[in-house]
Amino acid sequence: MADANGGAETGTSTCAFCEADVADAPPRERAHATGLWRVTAHRSALPGWMLLMPQRHVESLAALTPTEAAELGQLLREASVVHVDEFGAQKTYVMQFAEGVKHVHFSLAPRMADLPTERRGAKVSAYNAEDEPLSDAERDQLARRIGRAWPAPHPNGDEQS
Ligand SMILES: [Zn+2]
Repeated sequence: MADANGGAETGTSTCAFCEADVADAPPRERAHATGLWRVTAHRSALPGWMLLMPQRHVESLAALTPTEAAELGQLLREASVVHVDEFGAQKTYVMQFAEGVKHVHFSLAPRMADLPTERRGAKVSAYNAEDEPLSDAERDQLARRIGRAWPAPHPNGDEQS
């Protein structure tokens, strides 16, 4: 199969997420990153919707290393802090299917106080399927906002300041 430029696809270059993870990628592809994970500003109509994915091409949670798995918990909490403190959400919805793109990715959707009843729970996906998505420029702006608002990890496990 050839890509848009006529080149042959090999290995993980067939993965849209791995392909997008390049040094000069736009901000929306890297709102926040650690050595193991990155966060993108998702192509959604709901501002603040993020995708959290391992930097490595992994197709099952079972394939995560213990270090990746441990950092995942911290990152889920931090993303939710951004939703609550920066976007005014009540909490964060978390979904992981990896069907459209096989690369493991968590959908992190801000659960806003005014979320319509018919879009609660898994039906929040309508923001991606039915509505006009945010523009790339809006996603870049949101990514910068997410990056600025990202909290520092707790240095000592469960100790709260
Ligand atoms: Zn990949």
